Amino acid sequence: MRFDIFTLLPEVFSPYFQASILQKAAERGLLEIHLHNIRDWTHDRHHTTDDLPYGGGGGMVMKPEPIFEAVESVLGPVAGAADDGQPPCPIILLTPQGRVFNQAIALELSRQPRLAIICGRYEGVDERVREHLVTDEISIGDYVLTGGELPAMIIVDAVTRLLPGVLGDPDGPMDDSHAGGLLEYPHYTRPPEFRGWRVPDVLLSGDHARIARWRREQSLLRTLARRPDLLDKAALSEQDRRFLDEYRSTSPQAPSSKE
Ligand code: SAM
Repeated sequence: MRFDIFTLLPEVFSPYFQASILQKAAERGLLEIHLHNIRDWTHDRHHTTDDLPYGGGGGMVMKPEPIFEAVESVLGPVAGAADDGQPPCPIILLTPQGRVFNQAIALELSRQPRLAIICGRYEGVDERVREHLVTDEISIGDYVLTGGELPAMIIVDAVTRLLPGVLGDPDGPMDDSHAGGLLEYPHYTRPPEFRGWRVPDVLLSGDHARIARWRREQSLLRTLARRPDLLDKAALSEQDRRFLDEYRSTSPQAPSSKE
């Protein structure tokens, strides 16, 4: 999979991309990350990428020309992509006003062979970029950062670990929190006893069916305790529902899924 990232700060990506599973994915040919400095598409002496907002007010706004030029020179003539053009891949603008990123969106994006990502700075980008260049807008949460570089790293990371062959255990992502609509069960490793705290006996039993059932139940209990809202949308079996009903009937303080 190929990512084209348009940014004013390409240098901030390398330390993370070169020190993680992403680097291994790149070495194995599963991932290509191309960083493009928007400033390279300016034509004035000062390489200006931002200007004062029309209408006044504080802060600066990223100018449209270098962003359009950068994206068009890398992807081809895509101007008007959001209206009627045919860009070769989704063009994502990072903005706190976009749809909120989650595991389902990570999975959706991981099915694309290529993604372009535009990182904003200052007060954000000129509105014409949003209206006439981008095809998608993504937020990583309801808070405001100084730039789109961290959101871009988060999206690249979450998407890449879903690509076939990137993780050692191909089934790993299927059990992860949010993948199947529940939070994941707790993990333990050696030693079997640490400062008097023992690993649950079932995990040392070697009985794979019992371990699988225990994990499923832990996953259900954890989701009920921490994110009961997720249970409303999760795909639950009859056995899951019975387990939760029994638990609720013996634990009056247990949250209901509507809380
Ligand atoms: N003035 C903008 C607003 O209120 O919507 C916020 C601009 S923010 C200071 C600068 C840039 O950081 C944005 O253009 C965007 O690229 C990035 N950014 C900040 N918070 C973000 C978030 N939660 N998700 C995705 N990108 C974000």
